[in-house]
Amino acid sequence: MKYKLHAFFSNRNGIDELGRTLLWVALAIMILGTLFGITFLYNAALILLLYAYIRAFSRNLEKCQRQNAKYLAWRNFLKLRFRQRKTHKFYRCRKCKQKLCVPKGKGKICITCPNCGEHFEKRT
Ligand SMILES: [Zn+2]
Repeated sequence: MKYKLHAFFSNRNGIDELGRTLLWVALAIMILGTLFGITFLYNAALILLLYAYIRAFSRNLEKCQRQNAKYLAWRNFLKLRFRQRKTHKFYRCRKCKQKLCVPKGKGKICITCPNCGEHFEKRT
């Protein structure tokens, strides 16, 4: 019995950061759906839970690790943006859509896009 259980769980992805986040989000959505009696939210939470378990028991480790790495990069980007929100202002170049970061509190400044050289004025 112990051997069979060990054989079943070996080479599985398990719960990684993305899986943990999916479980917490599913729990939060499920609680909201239950509190407000919205069956759509409850069903969405069940689908999220199912996806989290499918990922946890998946043997496709490479794909799961790639998804987790993408999720971690996105989460770190959001954390950085959140930390910089009081010191920097973010714009997007009108010509090439490059994201630009300028310091806040400098008044009206002329911003030059480092990618395409487009100039535009913005208040920071
Ligand atoms: Zn540009």
